[in-house]
Amino acid sequence: MKPALLLAALLLAAPTLAPLALAPLALCAPALAATERSGSLAGVPVIDRLDTADLAAGQVQHFWFRAGDNALAQGWQVPVIVVKGARPGPRLLVTAGIHGDELNGIAVIHRLAAQIDPARLVGTLVMVPGLNTPGLLASTREFSDGNNLNRVMPGKAGGAADRHAQRLWDGLLRPNADLAVDLHTQSRGTAYVMYAFASTAETRAMAELVGPDIVKMDGGEKGTLENELTGDGVPAITFELGRPEVFDANSVQRGVDGLINLMTAKGMIAGTVAATAPFVTNRIVAVRTGTAGWMTLLAPLGSDVVKGQPIATIADSFGRITETVTAAESGRINTIATDPRRDAGDMVARIVWWDTEPKCALGC
Ligand SMILES: [Zn+2]
Repeated sequence: MKPALLLAALLLAAPTLAPLALAPLALCAPALAATERSGSLAGVPVIDRLDTADLAAGQVQHFWFRAGDNALAQGWQVPVIVVKGARPGPRLLVTAGIHGDELNGIAVIHRLAAQIDPARLVGTLVMVPGLNTPGLLASTREFSDGNNLNRVMPGKAGGAADRHAQRLWDGLLRPNADLAVDLHTQSRGTAYVMYAFASTAETRAMAELVGPDIVKMDGGEKGTLENELTGDGVPAITFELGRPEVFDANSVQRGVDGLINLMTAKGMIAGTVAATAPFVTNRIVAVRTGTAGWMTLLAPLGSDVVKGQPIATIADSFGRITETVTAAESGRINTIATDPRRDAGDMVARIVWWDTEPKCALGC
């Protein structure tokens, strides 16, 4: 019997003794703790539910969160690092690896965990360096059932990805967040600049604080961690850290610096908030090939282009140029294809810009 059920049984059996029975039981934590421990793996506690309110202040603690079981009845364990500050304050949730081929955020979290001193921290850092366990093992963007874990939040009793999302949302992510940053990169064969998405004035301010090259105001897509958290009262941003499938030193360092700047602005750590000046945008267009072949980019990632400017050529298998791809709009290139093999209709680049229409202020 679980401790909570045992207590309930005691209360039912002797209701008149309830106040007397409750006091001593409540004192022998973790009997009443909301964090549910179900075992350990190599000395690290395995938990089915986390409540950072249970944890001792001024410490770093590691957990394996059991997000679900695979077909072999083995848990899809998710690593959790909690840095609980000596003084109470906001709980910042930082997640990475919801897409299994997007790795820079994992290194950001590892570095942040090593750098933040809980004795000096105000509030709590709840960090999950790898949400999509099977995707990380297989280096796939998707979950084991082929679904996008970042389109099925907050989850439901459906397929494997739905259930994984539901366990994460209910037992780990939503109950422990006052604000959140979900770390990503572009997917295989493509690359981003340092790039943050936001959907409200409050999250735009968060996005600007993490110091990306570009902020995109965007109503977002249903089922993303960012949009579901923001919609549920936890301001959240998506922070894109460049290329997939690598730990890129520059992107990782900028990610760490950006999160430290956000924490400083929120009063979690002492210091001076650094001024940032990202290019804020609210419109985006994907430029695509008309023909298949080998692509050579002419305009680098992050460069400014004008409508009609050549940004790539397509050559056939003999090297003869068959197409010159031009910018569909004037703006800045925030995404490129890094894989030169292009089918007809594949993306070459994306261009972002600011639309002055008032209705586009939060995305268009
Ligand atoms: Zn992603």
